[in-house]
Amino acid sequence: MSSNYPKCVVFDLDYTLWPLWIDTHVTPPFRASKNNPQVILDRYGTDISFYKNVTDILQQLKDAQVKLCIASRTHAPKFAYQVLNLMRVPIDGELQPASKFFTNIKAFPATKIDHFEQLHKETGISYKDMLFFDDEGRNRVVESLGVTFCLVPDGLNRASFEEGIRKWQKNRK
Ligand SMILES: [Mg+2]
Repeated sequence: MSSNYPKCVVFDLDYTLWPLWIDTHVTPPFRASKNNPQVILDRYGTDISFYKNVTDILQQLKDAQVKLCIASRTHAPKFAYQVLNLMRVPIDGELQPASKFFTNIKAFPATKIDHFEQLHKETGISYKDMLFFDDEGRNRVVESLGVTFCLVPDGLNRASFEEGIRKWQKNRK
């Protein structure tokens, strides 16, 4: 089954995995909600959590031994890391920091080409074995490297995930 998946799936963060801009919409310090460890609250009590299907999709890919990475152009990488480390989500049936899903996290202001060149170097995985989900059409530039790009204007969900996988399978042929 795992050959039906790319070797590596890369996700943008803002408006792809969660519905906000981490560098402008929220303010530290961050803390986990007492009622739900999957929800992080900022200084003013604003909620930060993944879109509904994200954790299940990440687990499904992890089960298929797909490498999971992040490529974010955020101007607040520190906040992104803090939130991903504080947020506890079920991974292999146990609540763990969401950051544990990802082997390589690229979060800094640069082009997505820069992010992918680094990911390729670090993982040794060829661009054609990579699938990228992002909510912004301009980040389609990674297609010039050979990466499959899937636009997710409403964030990652079941339908957009399956669309991305189908697109990658088609490109591979
Ligand atoms: Mg985004």
